[in-house]
Amino acid sequence: MNKKQIIDEALKVIQDRKTQNEIISEQNYKEAREKSKAFKKADLLFKEKTIEYAKTSNENIKNELENLKKERLFELKKVGFSEKDLNPNYSCKLCNDSGYVNGKKCVCLKKEIQKLLIKNSGITSAIVHNFSQSDPKILENNEMLSKAHNLAKKYTEKFPNIKTKNLVFMGEVGTGKTFLLECIAQELLKKEFYVVYVTAFNLSNTLLKSLAVSPFESETILSPLLECDLLIIDDLGTEPMFRNLSATNLFTILNEREINGLSTLISTNLDFDAIENRYGNRLFSRIFNKRTTKVIGFTGSDLRIK
Ligand SMILES: [Zn+2]
Repeated sequence: MNKKQIIDEALKVIQDRKTQNEIISEQNYKEAREKSKAFKKADLLFKEKTIEYAKTSNENIKNELENLKKERLFELKKVGFSEKDLNPNYSCKLCNDSGYVNGKKCVCLKKEIQKLLIKNSGITSAIVHNFSQSDPKILENNEMLSKAHNLAKKYTEKFPNIKTKNLVFMGEVGTGKTFLLECIAQELLKKEFYVVYVTAFNLSNTLLKSLAVSPFESETILSPLLECDLLIIDDLGTEPMFRNLSATNLFTILNEREINGLSTLISTNLDFDAIENRYGNRLFSRIFNKRTTKVIGFTGSDLRIK
């Protein structure tokens, strides 16, 4: 699913709500008219007189209208409805379930987009870390981690207009790489960016799956990886290698994203040599393209930024 499809789907959720609310009020109106001949008659007359008054502005009709209005409501009440029941009870009073206010996305639409973005992001854990959860004490005592933290924060602030679009977090397990990746993901999802988060292991499975299906299905599977605003590949190097497949497909993804000016974040426990050995020179050069990529080294409790 690409971002446009996500927005379309969110809009459809809102508009389905609108339709549903309108159907309910229509049904109430229909039911009231069926149940009560007196209401039906008063309602019809009220409508006719309203039109007549609009045309003539005749004061007598105005008085008549007042009486008809009361009578209509009186009869309506008798069958268990109020005026409110005849009007759609929109779920969002700001936009009447249209999704837009003055041409801008309404909060209700934004909320739906947000939900779908998270659903499509591949982030499965209920609690995802965000910047506010970083321990100030740890940051205070670890200058490099503090730098990485600030860099990640700035990255989200400037996104997507950043000179070095890609980040590679390198370092051992438990040095805070995944934590920062999650913070970035969370922050950008909040800003309505389409973020896809995959572990290299799941990515490898996805790529394998895409080979076994029809070209159409394959495109559906791969399009989020190719089209999302930010692709995060966590733990590169922990996935099984299927001959040359992983490297070739990963190259295609990274290359296409770069051509389209889209950002990719990678974390890995491997060092430069291990990455080159594992994926070959071509992919190595693509991952560490100096023009577009910043490498951040996490070394134990120490951390150096290149
Ligand atoms: Zn709304």
